[in-house]
Amino acid sequence: MKTLSPGATIGILGGGQLGRMLAMAASRLGFSCIILDPDENCPAGKIARAMICADYDDETALAALSAQCDVITYEFENVPAHAVAFLQAAGSALAPPPKALAISQDRLHEKNFLQDIGVSTAPYQPVNNESDLQNAIEALGLPALLKTRRLGYDGKGQALIKNKNGLAKGWKAMQGMSSILEGFIDFAFEISVITVRGKDGNSKTYHPARNLHAGGILRRSIVPSGASPEIIAEARSIAIKIADALDYVGVLGIEFFVSKDGALMVNEFAPRVHNSGHWTVEACGISQFENHIRAIAAWPLGDTARHSNCEMENLIGEDAANWPALAAEPGALLTLYGKRHQRPGRKMGHVTRLKPL
Ligand code: AMP
Repeated sequence: MKTLSPGATIGILGGGQLGRMLAMAASRLGFSCIILDPDENCPAGKIARAMICADYDDETALAALSAQCDVITYEFENVPAHAVAFLQAAGSALAPPPKALAISQDRLHEKNFLQDIGVSTAPYQPVNNESDLQNAIEALGLPALLKTRRLGYDGKGQALIKNKNGLAKGWKAMQGMSSILEGFIDFAFEISVITVRGKDGNSKTYHPARNLHAGGILRRSIVPSGASPEIIAEARSIAIKIADALDYVGVLGIEFFVSKDGALMVNEFAPRVHNSGHWTVEACGISQFENHIRAIAAWPLGDTARHSNCEMENLIGEDAANWPALAAEPGALLTLYGKRHQRPGRKMGHVTRLKPL
């Protein structure tokens, strides 16, 4: 990867709010962005220099993106493997590394990878049919969570199995897809560490945020998390260990469960900027978005220290209709993603409220 000069062009696969905030950060440093997304009204397309409206596996579109961009990055982890292979064959510089994308696309590979490098996770078993599920329940006990290996996000593709009567229904919910059963972790709370690793192999982490979910969707991120200094230090060091093992370049979001006795387990990692790091825009000098751009441009990483404590609240579905009150609220720092249609469960924006450090 070569160092990009201001004026260079960055390609982003995916034009959602993460792509939009990446493009905003890129433009601050003098870069332009080209977005590839199948939706011509996608949030990032509206603010980028150009947008290619096409499916992610459209080779003509990928070739055009490759020809015009100095580096290509992603804003979601489910980029088809074929698209990545095509871009690599076309000679594009890709960051984060495709290996991280491939591992994170499959919950079984992700958990195996974490175990192999000595990072604790919830206990798990692969499940490919109802009889595997029966055996997995015997091994892990109940309650347990059945999750599809691929294409699950925001709690989708998951079923909580509370007792043996729920077995058939749980398996049916997976619609025949390869899955894993995870032991249910009765955690005290959840935190995430936003990590950025540069081309030179150096990493920095933001302070862990405490994350509150409802219905599998992130509702709020609170900084500081209330975790002890020991837990914070351990979470940051596990995050760097994962980034190093992936030979990572860019921002990596890592979600942890904190058990009641203070043990850490990694739930999952996202090879991209992360919703639980949106607060870094308002509470840090250099945000997760700018640090991702800096890393993939092979620039020096920016400081991850925060100047304020804060609470970030997602505006989901009809929450966003409250924008006039939020815009009038003193100290409420409002970001709206420019999505034209509200749907239940759809992330429409977020609001960050700063507090003294
Ligand atoms: P995921 O899609 O795996 O990130 O799961 C979404 C949310 O479901 C997590 O942030 C947790 O709140 C909850 N969850 C996921 N896996 C488990 C588990 N093994 N035990 C308890 N809660 C879980």
